[in-house]
Amino acid sequence: MTVCDKCRREAAAFIRYSGVHLCKDHFCEFVEKRVRHELRDQLDLKGGEKIAVAVSGGKDSTVALHLVAEILGKRRNLEICAITVDEGISNYRESSIPIVEQNCRTLGLEHIIVSFRDLYGTTMDEIAAKNRKLSTCSYCGVLRRAAMNRAAKDWNATYLATGLNLDDTAQSILMNFARGDVERLARLGPHEKIQPGLAPRIQPLRRIPESETTLYAMIKGLRFHDLECPYALEALRNSYRKVIIELEDRYPGTRHSIVRSYDLMLPALRGMFPQARLQTCACGEPSLSQKCKACELIESLK
Ligand code: SF4
Repeated sequence: MTVCDKCRREAAAFIRYSGVHLCKDHFCEFVEKRVRHELRDQLDLKGGEKIAVAVSGGKDSTVALHLVAEILGKRRNLEICAITVDEGISNYRESSIPIVEQNCRTLGLEHIIVSFRDLYGTTMDEIAAKNRKLSTCSYCGVLRRAAMNRAAKDWNATYLATGLNLDDTAQSILMNFARGDVERLARLGPHEKIQPGLAPRIQPLRRIPESETTLYAMIKGLRFHDLECPYALEALRNSYRKVIIELEDRYPGTRHSIVRSYDLMLPALRGMFPQARLQTCACGEPSLSQKCKACELIESLK
């Protein structure tokens, strides 16, 4: 991490887990360096790759899109696009899509939009109003992942980049660990092996704390959507978010330690749960069983 006189005089950021003050330029350089490192680590570029970025319009996916375009966009023989899933959440999604469109225009990238209405014949608002067994976010998460995979495959994407940051990653690890879902823990991205029908996920921001993606977006003047989803309060993830924030506050560096420990355990976890052979659901999506989770959920609502 480079530090200059300006960092001491006009610090824009205090990196608590390192005890360092950084000026705007060195803060951005610090973020970009780690993202470059992750992209080098997670991608195997031979030429001709197509990288789709999942962009909701929020700060994390906006920063991911901006950095993937900035770092990889000048390469010849590589294509980048943004994919947005419109879940059909009123007073929320309709205001984020124009922001993504505008950002894609500025970056000169194709923007693909897929909707729950077109794919599943329903919307999250309609699902939320039904008598259902699971939380709204449980339906949304499964349907959105399937929709994103379908759009990435239709575009022939070699990789699908998401905006998951360090906080999200630490939360997912803790959440699956606490639920005893060790198999799912072994399958968290980034994906190293290519599975037929599944665009491998990469996570360029997995080492960048949420507060740093926000600051980066603000310093760079990136336009992002900052409304909260009306169903967000139902998310189980919120409890883990609170725990991680509290731990990080008391013991700076906790999020990094959780992810580092997970990475150390990952080869053993993947040894315990080798990649299963995927089947193809009638909808065309890859699935662990005959019917994919998205089709199961849609049918359960009928
Ligand atoms: Fe979907 Fe829940 Fe996220 Fe809203 S908060 S977009 S319902 S997963």
